[in-house]
Amino acid sequence: MSFWQVTAVPGRSVQGTCGHLAEALDVSVPAVRQCWECVRAGSRWVHLRQCLTCGHVGCCDSSPGRHAHGHARAGHDLARSVEPGERWAWCYADELFLEPTGVLDGAEAVDGSQNAGDGSGLK
Ligand SMILES: [Zn+2]
Ligand SMILES: [Zn+2]
Ligand SMILES: [Zn+2]
Repeated sequence: MSFWQVTAVPGRSVQGTCGHLAEALDVSVPAVRQCWECVRAGSRWVHLRQCLTCGHVGCCDSSPGRHAHGHARAGHDLARSVEPGERWAWCYADELFLEPTGVLDGAEAVDGSQNAGDGSGLK
């Protein structure tokens, strides 16, 4: 059973497949939301992404460090957003958006409807 499934991006009709979904584990949300590599380097990040394989937290591609992307190159391709209210993940290898399959629903009651149809600010 996988926790995530590929989701269609608004404005993009083609829906690809991701062969990494089995790598995604039910990693717990970090207690402290920080990109430690940025903290060490004294730099700032824009958004945070969490590796779905090991729970590593890094910053997004809009951040100067792009540490989540750097971590993905090590073989952990899936990362989810840990921004409050955001429930989506990203496969760096396939460049696909993922959404929860519903297996995790109930653990945290976040209303996803407010994000429906709003493709801005993703990634
Ligand atoms: Zn993939
Ligand atoms: Zn960083
Ligand atoms: Zn990882």
